Amino acid sequence: MTTVASEPVVSLEGLTKRYETTTAVDDLSFTVSEGEFFTLVGPSGCGKTTTLRLLGGFEDPTEGSIRLRGRDVTGVPPEARDIGVVFQSYALFPHMTVGENVGYGLNFEEPPGGMSREERVAELLELVGLDGFEERDPTALSGGQRQRVAIARALAPGPDLLLLDEPMSALDARLRERLRVELKTLQQELDITTVYVTHDQEEALAISDRMAVMHDGAAEQVGTPRAVYDRPATRFVAEFVGDNNVFSGTVTGRDGERISIDLGPTTVVVQSACDAARGDTAVACVRPEQFSRDGGTNQLVTDVESAEFLGWTTRLHLDWHGQELLARTDAALSGTVPLCFEPEDAHIVTVE
Ligand code: ATP
Repeated sequence: MTTVASEPVVSLEGLTKRYETTTAVDDLSFTVSEGEFFTLVGPSGCGKTTTLRLLGGFEDPTEGSIRLRGRDVTGVPPEARDIGVVFQSYALFPHMTVGENVGYGLNFEEPPGGMSREERVAELLELVGLDGFEERDPTALSGGQRQRVAIARALAPGPDLLLLDEPMSALDARLRERLRVELKTLQQELDITTVYVTHDQEEALAISDRMAVMHDGAAEQVGTPRAVYDRPATRFVAEFVGDNNVFSGTVTGRDGERISIDLGPTTVVVQSACDAARGDTAVACVRPEQFSRDGGTNQLVTDVESAEFLGWTTRLHLDWHGQELLARTDAALSGTVPLCFEPEDAHIVTVE
């Protein structure tokens, strides 16, 4: 069999999973390339875990197909998929040592590269920064250390694909941030294709090569963190990923790529190559960091409601004709504040 180097490691087409009363995954399609760190992100209940369980073979799809390196794996059991999995709870065996836990991953497959079991376990523990921990009892480890053991166990047989379901959700924020950097470094060192699930949009932006933003079982947008952040494809994505200000109004005219939108209290000009025409309803967004306090083609006159000091910035909550807006500032402000922005600082999300 000839293999095409550019063939995706994962390819989902029209993947759907229905339970009696719920459609957990709804016509989902995407591909994951060799060595990619791909994240499924979305709010609770949007279908992330079900998608991962389908990929791992722990559930069967109602419709659609999953191919791994071009092979249709419908009906193929988890152990025959060449996949390493880490679920939300670490699920380490408490009656086994750390070394035995990692070695458990080798019960069904030989260690790669002709290594002995002991050598492989030692290598993996070193890889996750726990060298010499073989004899430890997993109950005597911190949450972060347990999570590393779980990752080492999943990696032990040298899988072709790694699936991670919120592996850091039980850890505190600071440790999570540190471990996500370590995880990304490890993933790059091993060059292992990874599908990662999180409900934390900031984590998704920080860690992914590409991400799928899920809502009600469907992917609303698949793209690089930069593309998803700068050019959200739907109102849901615009509001879910990062702080944002979303406006809706009627297109009153256009001059090339400069589109005028009547927002009610004021008309703004937004630069976009989209095909908006007079009379269309446009949804546009402006990130809080895009506002300045003077200059600018567009100006919204707002009232400061509250200010949150975040250390590196202050987040202002402002009222603009009953709509709450967010802006960033380096000085505490109060009273009436103009928020100015240039046409190219705004993004048109959708036009109908
Ligand atoms: P969370 O972040 O809370 O884990 P999620 O995005 O991973 O959420 P899923 O666990 O995939 O979401 O669930 C998607 C939907 O499918 C939910 O409405 C859930 O209640 C439903 N669901 C999941 N598993 C089952 C099941 N075995 N039987 C019935 N409904 C299910």
